[in-house]
Amino acid sequence: MTTTHSTRMLILGSGPAGLSAAIYGARAGMAPIVVQGIQPGGQLMTTTDVENYPGFKDVIQGPWLMEQMQAQAEHVGARMIWDTIAEVDLSQRPFRLIGDGGTIYYGDVLVIATGAQAKWLGIESETRLRGQGVSACATCDGFFFRGKKVAVIGGGNTAVEEALYMTNHSQDVTLIHRRDSLRAEKILQERLFAHKNIKILWNKEIAEFVAGTGNEGLIGLDLRDTRSGEISRLDVDGGFVAIGHHPATELFRGHLDLDAEGYIRVSPGTVQTSIPGVFACGDVTDKVYRQAITAAGMGCMAALDAERFLAEADFEAKVPVHA
Ligand code: FAD
Ligand code: NAP
Repeated sequence: MTTTHSTRMLILGSGPAGLSAAIYGARAGMAPIVVQGIQPGGQLMTTTDVENYPGFKDVIQGPWLMEQMQAQAEHVGARMIWDTIAEVDLSQRPFRLIGDGGTIYYGDVLVIATGAQAKWLGIESETRLRGQGVSACATCDGFFFRGKKVAVIGGGNTAVEEALYMTNHSQDVTLIHRRDSLRAEKILQERLFAHKNIKILWNKEIAEFVAGTGNEGLIGLDLRDTRSGEISRLDVDGGFVAIGHHPATELFRGHLDLDAEGYIRVSPGTVQTSIPGVFACGDVTDKVYRQAITAAGMGCMAALDAERFLAEADFEAKVPVHA
């Protein structure tokens, strides 16, 4: 028999955006259901130290922070369901979604907080050294490389911004790009070229992330020249891969407006998608900030807007229609 769940507020995703929406939604009486997805807790479950989430003087652990957020959401009345949505029908309200085991979910409003994942180069040594010198987020991990040598890999806005950001911590930043020109915006390029602590290595790709002995972590990068094939070594303590992100939006293609990179489009300054009653928050719609605090803030916005949307819809449903 098919299991069916109905709720005023259906939330997809249990990262900071989804859980913040759940906390606000539950406190507003919308009895939210959170479909947690394949990664309950979201991206912060894959990290250790978090030093920039407000409210904690001491360093906290990503998984601990997410456990606390989930516990808080449950405490105020949100319900967690471990399932992954495989199909959506947003053509009418209530919205109808189907989990990968066939469970059907109805939501009077829908909050999409399915996040995004960093793209990786796909080299074995990159995976092995993640968290030991290799990262995909300078804003998150840059602080741990104070006074050390670092490299940023990529040639888009993200890579250039990460290289510039890293100069707050390091006087020796190298940007490594596989071609001889950047695709980043001109103004960012100008800032990059003008910075005395950044050097650029053109036409190089990563052949290997090199580990030190014992627990030393990353000590260097073996670089391959994309024209000659020649291999050279760059000594660094940190390597930031900044070659883009994949938003988790395949599910919504053809149902909601997405931008060229697949992020869900929202009206500027809001979390309102192209369908009234469907809200998107966090990394699934944000390719600029991509932080736990910004995702949480947008989750709050989604819940507040959802509550207003339902109040208006309920009011309109009760107003008698006069000829
Ligand atoms: P996510 O955290 O990506 O959560 C997405 C959720 O959606 C997951 O629960 C997933 O299971 C669910 N989902 C996906 N598809 C489906 C589906 N089909 N059905 C149901 N659910 C689905 N930020 C900081 O502020 N400080 C840091 O120190 C920091 N460190 C980081 C370290 C690492 C290694 C990484 C990868 C990121 C780090 N970030 C940090 C960034 C931060 O984790 C993200 O900005 C934040 O998690 C985004 O939150 P979100 O809720 O939008 O999405
Ligand atoms: P991007 O524009 O797609 O750039 C990715 C970069 O990584 C490119 O330079 C690409 O090289 C390189 N790359 C991709 N795969 C690679 C691989 N396997 N090996 C080596 N290099 C690889 O991604 P992004 O910089 O993350 O930006 C994504 C979008 O977000 C863009 O629209 C961007 O404008 C936007 N964004 C905006 C801001 C802002 O407004 N401040 C900040 C960040 C991002 P090639 O150039 O050779 O393809």
